[in-house]
Amino acid sequence: MSSFKFDVITLCPKAFEIINNLGVITRALDKNLIDVNLHDLRDFGEGSYRQVDDKPYGGGAGMVLKPGPIFEAHESINKFPKSKTLMMTPQGKVLKQKDLLRWSRLNQIIIICGQYEGFDERVRCLADEEISIGDYVLSGGEIPAISIINGLTRLLPGTLGDPDSLINESHNSPLLEYPHYTRPQVFKNMKVPDVLISGNHKDIELWREEQRLKRTYARRKDLLDNGQFSNNDLNNDGE
Ligand code: SAH
Repeated sequence: MSSFKFDVITLCPKAFEIINNLGVITRALDKNLIDVNLHDLRDFGEGSYRQVDDKPYGGGAGMVLKPGPIFEAHESINKFPKSKTLMMTPQGKVLKQKDLLRWSRLNQIIIICGQYEGFDERVRCLADEEISIGDYVLSGGEIPAISIINGLTRLLPGTLGDPDSLINESHNSPLLEYPHYTRPQVFKNMKVPDVLISGNHKDIELWREEQRLKRTYARRKDLLDNGQFSNNDLNNDGE
């Protein structure tokens, strides 16, 4: 099986050292299930100063990433048959679990990380999708990119010890996951619900399903309301 390729265009390649210390993701790297190639935007900078940014036309605060170096970096990347380019931007579509599932069926994801005030508008035409990891602004696209690498990698076959752990997981279906308990049975006067130690699998199943509904209703009613999942998702429990 060939590995899933991540190619990342970034001004801060060192930020990605963290993926060597991220448990499941690090094991996926060791097992060659994924391959992460970092492309230092500075290497594609212009002139003797390797310039990658410049002042905005029309004035205003901050610096803007020039289009030339990003286009060159993108062109230099070896493209695989099923490949998509994602641009990290707080103006993009907010990342959902179903996006990670969709992308996990590709061979390659190319991620463009911004810095400073962001990109020259003309960079957008390189992107198949513009993605935000939430309605807040970070200083660069590296943490968003690492989130995508992390979330997508754990969906790849062979990555998780127990693939069943993906099935009921929060955001894999419209419902959040049920509560978990492990030993001890009583901790600081807080007891594990009786049903979980009853040994009655049918009752446990029912209790968990009920908890999923209650939790989702209490915490994230929007997930039930906003129709972000199709009937197909509902029938297949997320797949
Ligand atoms: N001035 C820009 C924000 C620039 S933040 C604006 O108002 O839209 C600098 C870079 O950090 C962005 O180019 C992007 O790559 C990254 N970034 C910041 N917040 C992000 C988010 N929520 N999701 C994805 N990328 C983000």
